[in-house]
Amino acid sequence: MYQICSLAALAAQKGWKEWQFYPAKFFLIAVPIVFLYGICIGSFLNVVIIRLPRGESLIKRSSHCMTCGAKIRIIDLIPVFSWLFLRGRCHSCGEKISPRYPIVEALNGFLYLACFAAFGMKVNAFLMCIFASLLICIAFIDWDTMDMYIPMLLIIAALAIPSHFVTRIAIVDRVIGLFAVSVPFFLIGEISGAFIKKKTGEKIRGIELGDTILMACAGVYLGWKAVVPAAFIGIILGAIVGIILKKKTAESKMAFGPFLCIGLLLGAMFGEELTLMYMRFMRSSFYPETAYILLTSVLR
Ligand SMILES: [Zn+2]
Repeated sequence: MYQICSLAALAAQKGWKEWQFYPAKFFLIAVPIVFLYGICIGSFLNVVIIRLPRGESLIKRSSHCMTCGAKIRIIDLIPVFSWLFLRGRCHSCGEKISPRYPIVEALNGFLYLACFAAFGMKVNAFLMCIFASLLICIAFIDWDTMDMYIPMLLIIAALAIPSHFVTRIAIVDRVIGLFAVSVPFFLIGEISGAFIKKKTGEKIRGIELGDTILMACAGVYLGWKAVVPAAFIGIILGAIVGIILKKKTAESKMAFGPFLCIGLLLGAMFGEELTLMYMRFMRSSFYPETAYILLTSVLR
């Protein structure tokens, strides 16, 4: 419990420490602006999530109702709020509009707020916003199609370049991050793939190549201290949801990417603290006494 509290305190400190010097008016203006900016970008993410897997143009802006084909009015294009005003139904035919649209928009808005809260009003927070939006697209597309878009993953790796100038993540940490999760994931994928092929003749890998590349790219951007806890969070979440889904729907195939994305978001914000806390815990509980006793007993 104490650890959770201190973790929350640490995370808050990082951003809020500087924020407390800003006047209250600043928050009254900054929070709505960041949120509105977030939901507007979120609206574009919906377009990407729907159109990219179908190979449709992203810029052609004439959206229409999926059921009746009625053109969507300008007034219905306001993120989140239009859906609420329309009570989730098409203005012309009354057909239900998926709640996923406002969920993606609001999610992006809240994540932008979280990024600026965690990292302060800095360039790094802006990079984290790009990262969060990419993860939303990757997660939803993977959930829908069991596929990832390699260019999106490469953009994450490319974020490492501006990140290098605005964070204190060492290049060594980034290089370790490149391999720390991707190599075990690749090996698990290869071994489980061979095992499944032998047993059932199907060509499925336990961990898909997309997940492996995602963790490699995120490792370069965030460093190993964020990407290792991210992998653990993703695996645990994926296992829990996988078991629940299998019990409920008997569906055994499920995208792993969304859980890795959740893990990466948490890893990006709290990963370094988690890793440090874990190492401190290991050191204090094992290192000095146990290692000393073990060493001396062996040498004797
Ligand atoms: Zn309609």
